[in-house]
Amino acid sequence: MAFASTLTSQAHDGAGNSASSPANSASEITIGEGHPTHTPGAGRFAPSPSGDLHLGNLRTALLAWMWARLTGRRFVLRIEDIDRVRSGSAQRQIDELQALGIDWDGEVLIQSSRAHVHDEAVKTLLRNGYAFECFCSRKDIREAASAPHVPPGHYPGTCLQLSASEIARKREEFAAEGRRPALRLKAPVSEWTVYDEYFGEYTGPVDHFVIQRSDGAPAYNLAVVIDDAFQGVDQVVRGDDLLSQSPGQAILAHLLGYPTVTYAHVPLVLAQSGARLAKRDGAVTIEELAERGVTIAQIIEVLARSMGIEGVHSASQLLESMDTETLRALPRQPWTPDLDKLFA
Ligand code: GLU
Repeated sequence: MAFASTLTSQAHDGAGNSASSPANSASEITIGEGHPTHTPGAGRFAPSPSGDLHLGNLRTALLAWMWARLTGRRFVLRIEDIDRVRSGSAQRQIDELQALGIDWDGEVLIQSSRAHVHDEAVKTLLRNGYAFECFCSRKDIREAASAPHVPPGHYPGTCLQLSASEIARKREEFAAEGRRPALRLKAPVSEWTVYDEYFGEYTGPVDHFVIQRSDGAPAYNLAVVIDDAFQGVDQVVRGDDLLSQSPGQAILAHLLGYPTVTYAHVPLVLAQSGARLAKRDGAVTIEELAERGVTIAQIIEVLARSMGIEGVHSASQLLESMDTETLRALPRQPWTPDLDKLFA
């Protein structure tokens, strides 16, 4: 891939709002030659197959599907199986989405099938100076004193300070032990602005995040960007726990020459304690609910109500009753239903 043109500002295509973003005016950012564009664009749902989908995942999937369908987009499904995989879970998730009444276009993309493409992108980034080797262990990172300008939880920058001879020495040490360094993004900016349907213009710091793990596997933050572009995704609807990842993913997309995407980070469904939904909360998956006699129609009714739509009992009815205005009016706070009473 050739890194050709120079980017001076970032456009977004969200909601007819402003087309450029002053925060993204860094010069010297080079981008590639672009990517085949798909018309129309697509929305997507991209679960990690780490277990059955719970009410929060189902709600996010419905929202992503409706956002796509109501804005004239295709809707695609991708199983992100490069991390956190439980055997059999991918097929179960696909079955659950189908049972819920969600439909998608084309085949389900299995992320691990694209390892060679992820590897190529890593090589391109390295060649162009947008990646560096990181020899740090988790402990090194934990114990490193963070420079004052490094946001909490971000990479402290240790391996960026290494001299050429130190790098050569570390490489030898690693090679002698049969280990390889992780690769991290060296972004040419420290922050980036994205457009989000719920958060508006959102500017956040860009971390030197891992793009290739030390076991050679592509990292989530890399693969998600490459595969979204491959599937023609220009609308990313997902849980708002991933909002802070979006500036880094967006700059990476720019560096790889992909079109800008619009985000819609939707609130999570949490237990009333404020904790993430878990087994201990009781029945939160379709199967667990079915064991208690709760039907798909009831699940849809309850999820629809949480989105401001009353009295619908199927995904298609929900889609018919929904409009983009109601989608945009979704409360920003997490939805914290009393799970014992929800289906009583
Ligand atoms: N695979 C990720 C997850 O299930 C979601 C990735 C995304 O939507 O960007 O947490």
